[in-house]
Amino acid sequence: LMRWHEQIGQQRESLASLLTREQGKPLAEAAAEIDSTAGYIRWFAEEACRVNGQVLQAPVADRQVLAVREPVGVVTAITPWNFPAAMIARKVAPALAAGCTMVLKPAHETPLTALALARLAERAGLPPGVLNVICGTDAAGLGLELSTHALVRKLSFTGSTRVGKLLLSQCAATVKKVSMELGGNAPLIVFADADIDLAVAGTVASKFRNAGQTCISANRVFVQRDIYPQFRQRLVEAVAALRCGPGQDNDTDVGPLISDRARQRVQRLIEQAGESGAEILCGGAAPASPGYFYMPTVVDSLEHDHPLCCEEIFGPVVPLLPFDTEAEVVAMANDTTAGLAAYCYTSDLARAWRLSSSLDYGMVGINESMISNEMAPFGGVKESGLGREGSSFGIEDYLELKYVAFSTRQA
Ligand code: ADP
Repeated sequence: LMRWHEQIGQQRESLASLLTREQGKPLAEAAAEIDSTAGYIRWFAEEACRVNGQVLQAPVADRQVLAVREPVGVVTAITPWNFPAAMIARKVAPALAAGCTMVLKPAHETPLTALALARLAERAGLPPGVLNVICGTDAAGLGLELSTHALVRKLSFTGSTRVGKLLLSQCAATVKKVSMELGGNAPLIVFADADIDLAVAGTVASKFRNAGQTCISANRVFVQRDIYPQFRQRLVEAVAALRCGPGQDNDTDVGPLISDRARQRVQRLIEQAGESGAEILCGGAAPASPGYFYMPTVVDSLEHDHPLCCEEIFGPVVPLLPFDTEAEVVAMANDTTAGLAAYCYTSDLARAWRLSSSLDYGMVGINESMISNEMAPFGGVKESGLGREGSSFGIEDYLELKYVAFSTRQA
């Protein structure tokens, strides 16, 4: 794993370029993803040294009781196209560190980054058969095999909630362990006492990274009424200044969406918002240039139960909503079946602590919207998933606990 990490570091620029060419995100973001990929691999290489069991207290004097950790066995992984490198590292690295072997199916939109990483693992000396990559467009057929094969002991999936539920049900027949990183509907809440510059910058960073195609992207931005006009103006200025273009261009802030279908979905959500009386403050259309681009968009005057605020947008669109009280905004923020990430901007310390507990999410950023890194446990509650990736908790999902009882009795 350490040698794989080194190989990735050496190929950083070419991997980033490949990632941008197949996925579309700006080169700087692609390079950051490659760094994060290498970071996960190094982290779990280090964690491999800390897979410890325990010697437990026995109920009787003539017994020794051990709890030992063992790899779960063969793991399958199905990964999405939005982070074609990092989503793989988050699964492969802890699996290998725990001693499991893996069969990986990357998204058919982004197989090249997966194959490049696997080639580097091979160069790093990974034995044949330990990491296997299967590519193909028959996602349902491949998924069925990976989730029902009798030799497979665990499936780790990152993708849509719909497919996650299907895979969960398919895994039930052979009682496989599962890790599920599914969709989010992240609220970002800005209180009147917040540092507005920080909140605007945090909103832009969270929303427009990867053109909004991340599961922890701010999906609904709630702003307290006293500062609503001020925040809206600053946000629109910041969003209108974003440059939308090909990921390879150095001055691009927002790249294209993954497909025409993805862009049509975003366009449909915007049209529905317009029909129900929402105001499009900037963007709201595709530019004339070829490619699946969509202009960075801010939408105002929506009801919080509008599809734009209930569905995962997965595009460069900010729905802005006013609120009056903390109780009201917490209720709106929690009114969703998703529970992945939530963000809160406030300078009131007591409120920050209250929100960190009252927001029903697996991850809460307080005055911080860039929360994903290898040292932290990434994962959701409710329908956003099962299990955690990253941190020392991330390897647990790939380990079984075995209890061994030794009698020291003599005949
Ligand atoms: P997205 O909408 O982000 O593409 P998906 O859940 O459709 O999310 O895709 C995530 C991963 O799941 C991809 O690797 C995709 O190929 C795979 N996938 C899609 N449909 C199925 C399915 N029916 N069974 C198994 N895997 C699937």
